[in-house]
Amino acid sequence: MRSISIFGATGSIGQSTFDLIRRAGGAEAYRTVALTGARNVTLLAEMARELRAEVAVVAHEEELPALREALAGSGVEVAAGEAAIAEAADRPADWVMSGIVGAAGLVPGMRALRHGGMLALANKESLVTAGSLLLETARAHGATILPVDSEHSAVFQALTGEDAGAVERVIITASGGPFRTWPLEKLARATVAEAKAHPNWSMGSRISIDSASMFNKALELIETREFFGFPPEMIEVLVHPQSIVHALVGFRDGGVMAHLGPADMRHAIGFALHWPARGDVPVERLDLARLGSLSFEAPDPERFPALRLAREVMRVRGLAGAAFNAAKEVALDNFMAGRLGFLGMATVVEETLAVLSAETGLGKAPTGLEEVLAMDRYARVKAAECAAGMRED
Ligand code: NAD
Ligand code: MG
Repeated sequence: MRSISIFGATGSIGQSTFDLIRRAGGAEAYRTVALTGARNVTLLAEMARELRAEVAVVAHEEELPALREALAGSGVEVAAGEAAIAEAADRPADWVMSGIVGAAGLVPGMRALRHGGMLALANKESLVTAGSLLLETARAHGATILPVDSEHSAVFQALTGEDAGAVERVIITASGGPFRTWPLEKLARATVAEAKAHPNWSMGSRISIDSASMFNKALELIETREFFGFPPEMIEVLVHPQSIVHALVGFRDGGVMAHLGPADMRHAIGFALHWPARGDVPVERLDLARLGSLSFEAPDPERFPALRLAREVMRVRGLAGAAFNAAKEVALDNFMAGRLGFLGMATVVEETLAVLSAETGLGKAPTGLEEVLAMDRYARVKAAECAAGMRED
C-alpha cells in the first residue's frame, strides 16, 4: 500500500488532495503518515480520523490541546509547532504533498526529499527561494519532484517524451486576475475583498491576491526558470482570461504543444498522484464548442510591475528569490491588514530588493538552507521598514 503525507492539508490544495485520496479509496487504498495544518484543528482532526493518519500536526502550539481533544481515542499521534511539522516530514512516505503556503513550506519539503520518494510540489515558494538546493537535494537522495502548479504541471506534461534541447520557448499563461482591465488609478484604490475575488480559480486568499497583483505569475516565472532550467529569455507570460490553456511549449521546428484543462487544481494534483501513469481524475471535461473562443493578450508591465521585478530576480538568481519572496509576503501581509495600498506592494518589493542589493548584493548562490532562511528573515525586516515608511497614517 502506498504511503502519503499532506503538508497544508487544511488549505485549498490540501483539501483537493484529500478529495482525490478519498475518492481513490481513502484509508483502504493509502496509508497516511502525516497531515498538517495551521489553525483549523477541527478539519485537520476529521481528516486524520478518516484517513487513520499516523500523526496530525498543527503549526501553532496553542492549538495542541484542542487537537489532542479532537483526536482523543483515535490512535492518531498529535504534535504542534514548526519543528514538529519538520519532524513529520522526516517520517518516510512514498508520496508527499507540499501544500503549505509561503516560505513556511520550504523546510518540510526539503526534509521530505531526504527519504527519496515523490514530492508533489504546490509550494512554489520553495523553488523561488531555494530552487537549486531543492533540486540538488532531490538528486542526492533519488527523490522526484513533480510540479503541481497548473502551469508547471502543464509544461511538464508538454515536455514528456520530448527533447528539452529542441525547446525554443516556454509560455505560461495568466488569467490576468480580477483587475485585468482596471486602469492604474483604480488599481491604487483596490480593496482586499476585490483582490481576493479571482474570476476562474478557487484558491487560498494569499495566492488569490497574488494573482490579482500578478505576483503569483512573477513567482511562477522564477519557478519555471528554476525547475526546468530554461534561461529567462526563453520564458514568457501570456494573459489568457479563460484559464483553459495553462502553458505552451514551442519547439525549434515551429510546433507548439499546448496543455488544456479545466481550472481545477485536481487535474494537476491527480497527475502528480498517479504519475507516471494516468489515473481517473473527476474534473469537469472540456467542452470547447460551448466555450466558443479562447483569447490571449500580452501582459501590461506598467500596471503589473511584479513581472518586471521577477525578470530581475531571474537574472540575478542566488539569494534574490529568497529576498523577493520574503518582501512580497511582508507586502501582502501589510496590504491584507489595510496598512498598504494595492500598488504599494510592488513598491515595497522593489525598494527592498534595491536596499539589499546595495547592502550585500544578492547574486551569491546559497551553499545551504541556513543562508536562504537568514536572507528570508533579513528581507522581512527590511521590507517591514519599507512598508512602515510608506504608511500614510
Ligand atoms: P491555503 O491558504 O488555502 O492553505 C495553506 C495551507 O498551509 C493550510 O493548510 C494552512 O493551514 C497551512 N499553513 C499556512 N501557514 C502555515 C505555516 N506558517 N506553517 C505551517 N502551515 C501553514 O493555500 P493554497 O491556496 O492551498 O496554496 C498552498 C500552496 O500551493 C501555495 O504555495 C500556493 O502558491 C500553491 N498553489 C495553490 C494553488 C491553488 O489553486 N490553491 C494553485 C497553484 C499553486
Ligand atoms: Mg499557477
